[in-house]
Amino acid sequence: MTYGVQHKIVLQAIMHEGAVHEDRGKELIISLFDHDNTGRILSEINAKLRPLCMAVKCLNCEVTGQLYWVFVNTVQDKIASFHPEFSQAELALLRNIYSEIVTSSNGYVSSTFCLNLCSSLNMKLSKADAEQFLHEMVHRKWLCSKDGKYYMGVRSIAELLQYVKDTYNDNLQICTLCKQELFYSKKCSKCDATVHVYCLQNYEKNGGSGCPNCHQPISSHDQSSASSMDIECASEAETNEMTQPSQTRRSKRKHTS
Ligand SMILES: [Zn+2]
Ligand SMILES: [Zn+2]
Repeated sequence: MTYGVQHKIVLQAIMHEGAVHEDRGKELIISLFDHDNTGRILSEINAKLRPLCMAVKCLNCEVTGQLYWVFVNTVQDKIASFHPEFSQAELALLRNIYSEIVTSSNGYVSSTFCLNLCSSLNMKLSKADAEQFLHEMVHRKWLCSKDGKYYMGVRSIAELLQYVKDTYNDNLQICTLCKQELFYSKKCSKCDATVHVYCLQNYEKNGGSGCPNCHQPISSHDQSSASSMDIECASEAETNEMTQPSQTRRSKRKHTS
């Protein structure tokens, strides 16, 4: 089938939301095409997008494991250029949060820490405005929020991975199973191998057990596991924790000269 008006409707839905949950995308495709061959439709859409340097990528949320179809620019952009609707202060906050997440040893940053960043921005941003902004970022899947912590959202991973790789080369870890870079992982305490939570779940579902690298049992500390479905809006009210993530930071940005 050639690219037609139905493809356009699917693409518009993905572009409009930025990230569409797999189930919703599938529903849409069934209603428009009378079949559920989502892979074929997405590759037909991507063939159309390629010359425009855009694409739809399929990507799991690192925290929930849910699969999303994410609309991305394949030309590498600086953070600011794809958030034209946000203020300089908000972008500065976002950049700081990315930096904290990437350089943290655990792949997330507490919401308290994020709000405290406001005072160190050199730009005026009230905590209330920052809170509103962060809520919006979670809603749009740029960040993922769970139990008072912020993680990289699917859209940030889809769009920014190359930028992050270039900037924070030394800090990125690789999933032992899928070999992709990861931000939030389960870590083996014996051999330090890191895996995506959802990759490990698949591995176990297929009969694997323990660490996929050293085969020792993986202890489950720091496992804020992916049980709840509506994680993303669960942030706000909770936690008064005053963590000091800076103590656990790995080396910061690699030196550029
Ligand atoms: Zn993986
Ligand atoms: Zn291991």
